[in-house]
Amino acid sequence: MESVEELSNHAPCMGAEQVDPTVIAETNLDCALPYLNHLQPGLVETLRQPKRTITVSFPVEMDDGSVQVFRGYRVVHNRTIGPGKGGLRFHPDLNLAEVCLLASLMTWKCALSDVPFGGAKGGVVCDPKSLSQRELQQVTRRFVSELGDNIGPYTDIPAPDLYTNAQTMAWVYDTYDVMHSGNNNRAVVTGKPLSLGGSAGRTEATGLGCFHATERLVENFQIEGLKTLKGATVVIQGFGNVGAVAAHKFAEAGAIVIALSDSQGGIVNEAGIDLDAAAEHKREHGTLVGLPGTLSLTNEALLELECDVLVPAAMGAQICNHNAANIHAKLVVEAANSPITPAADQILGERGITVLPDIVANAGGVIVSYFEWLQNLQNQSWELDEINSKLLKKIYRAVDVVIERWQVLQAEAPAEPEELADFPLNLRTAALVIAIERLAEVVEQRGIWP
Ligand code: GLU
Repeated sequence: MESVEELSNHAPCMGAEQVDPTVIAETNLDCALPYLNHLQPGLVETLRQPKRTITVSFPVEMDDGSVQVFRGYRVVHNRTIGPGKGGLRFHPDLNLAEVCLLASLMTWKCALSDVPFGGAKGGVVCDPKSLSQRELQQVTRRFVSELGDNIGPYTDIPAPDLYTNAQTMAWVYDTYDVMHSGNNNRAVVTGKPLSLGGSAGRTEATGLGCFHATERLVENFQIEGLKTLKGATVVIQGFGNVGAVAAHKFAEAGAIVIALSDSQGGIVNEAGIDLDAAAEHKREHGTLVGLPGTLSLTNEALLELECDVLVPAAMGAQICNHNAANIHAKLVVEAANSPITPAADQILGERGITVLPDIVANAGGVIVSYFEWLQNLQNQSWELDEINSKLLKKIYRAVDVVIERWQVLQAEAPAEPEELADFPLNLRTAALVIAIERLAEVVEQRGIWP
């Protein structure tokens, strides 16, 4: 699966904080507002609401002959810069508010990475672990048929996300293609199998981008006691698509990956974990836990380990007001979508812990999705080297502009200092300011119709 431990739901943090996706989206926007006073009044408000939400429900005949009704969502947050773009996730706790938050993250991610798409997200409320392959295929096909022309190569382009993968995207493609026969429909969905127009490097893109972004930040941002990844200790929560690829890249760069986890628990070895042995153990036993030469610990304890770089690459809302005071990393890299709640963001900031936000750290996935879309439209197949060097450039550029903007905002006297007291400037805010300014510029150029 593309992202079993990559991008997940807003499973409530263990503490009392209310983890409401709408509040997360609102608070992040509120933090950027004081830096956006120069924009047309009211313009930012248009970004609080998604442009379009679709809720569908449909029946599926199950393997035992019974009928089950499923609910699906597709949200387009914004289409100022281009068609909607974003993943489809299958999860039992999925809800509309969460899909809206994730769709807005896609808008910021695309704007920041200079990818000409708007933000979208969708999925089906289901427990994919309890469905057979046939049932999963039925759910996917029926969901796509319900969406009808609301997705398309130039309107809204889905991709893999939590508990969906290249196979799911093949079903999405096939269903759409049957509904629109005679066209080249490959660009309707990204993250497809290679044989069906998928792109080289797409599966690894999020983990690779996460590593490049971290390396760039460490080398160019003043993080106390962390100037290079060489010799740095790294803790990664999640050993799925993103976590595993990033772990290998960190180790190649000379960092020491001291702890890893999957949904069943974590493993730690202060001297460094043998990543090939870890992957082999997971293949054989279905979990990392029990890898010889490591000690076991819970996912919660793993987050609190002393390290240089902590990479939450699993669930949303993992670091909240309950545990933010116990984080002992110099840098937290949001490989997952929204793993840090706003309250935790504030606590980490006050404690001097740098956060590399999700909209930069995990943008590699959508960047290579864009490359896949381009290849599909041109009936081309690019070499992996070319894709990876284009990815590297886009990621470096995104990190650089965020650092530059942070420095500028930091140096400027705030217009209303009391407003800023509640929302200290961090890299997330700097990134959001850039993304919103880019959108605002295009809104101005296009004009507001009529
Ligand atoms: N689901 C991924 C994300 O959250 C990728 C989306 C895409 O490739 O369109 O960024």
